[in-house]
Amino acid sequence: MPHRKSTRSDRTTPPTIVIATRNLHKLEEIRAIFSDLPVRILSLADFPEIGEVAETGQSFAENALQKARTVFQHTGLLTLADDSGLEVDALGGAPGIYSARFAGPGRSTAENNRKLLSLLKTTPREERTARFRCAVALVGPHLETVVEGVVEGHIAPAPRGEAGFGYDPLFVPQGYTRTFAELGSEVKNRISHRARAFQKARKILHRYLEQEGR
Ligand code: IMP
Repeated sequence: MPHRKSTRSDRTTPPTIVIATRNLHKLEEIRAIFSDLPVRILSLADFPEIGEVAETGQSFAENALQKARTVFQHTGLLTLADDSGLEVDALGGAPGIYSARFAGPGRSTAENNRKLLSLLKTTPREERTARFRCAVALVGPHLETVVEGVVEGHIAPAPRGEAGFGYDPLFVPQGYTRTFAELGSEVKNRISHRARAFQKARKILHRYLEQEGR
């Protein structure tokens, strides 16, 4: 039986939203972005029965929508879901939606990074342009939409830095000489694809809550 709770049913308690992630680091970033909104935030950790949601779409937007729809159907609560990855121009946009498993299922981040560097071994600096893209889907009562955030940059010749995760040691954002892994979370959280997408989602959520009379 879905746990149905309308965001407009009880005007004395803040509406509840679900962030469709189990990644605590991501959740904290998103909590900070939404800190001025009158919402109570839950995550998939509050719904262990949901399990893994399949991502079978052909784009970040399709995957984010698929995840948000599934969680909304299950909880009845306004849900935000994201999907993200790296697009490298010299590789025709790869690894794209396959970013997490670029070197094969179950392979490590280091193996993904090594594969990327090896494919770009002979590619000169000016052709190493790339971007991180993040799609955020919002699905709830009277709402279904997707927004995207992008950060442009290029792929460094070798990994540098310790902070962050995934391709951060290889990605140099435009306007900087250091990688995301060298720049650290303060800079990354200001300019990242995820920060930009969730800032757009924040505006939509704010308007939605006003329209719903919250
Ligand atoms: P997800 O959307 O968080 O599941 O990310 C999919 C994959 O894209 C990750 O496993 C990483 O390989 C890559 N990725 C997404 N966002 C970032 C980022 O901010 N830094 C580095 N890699 C990222």
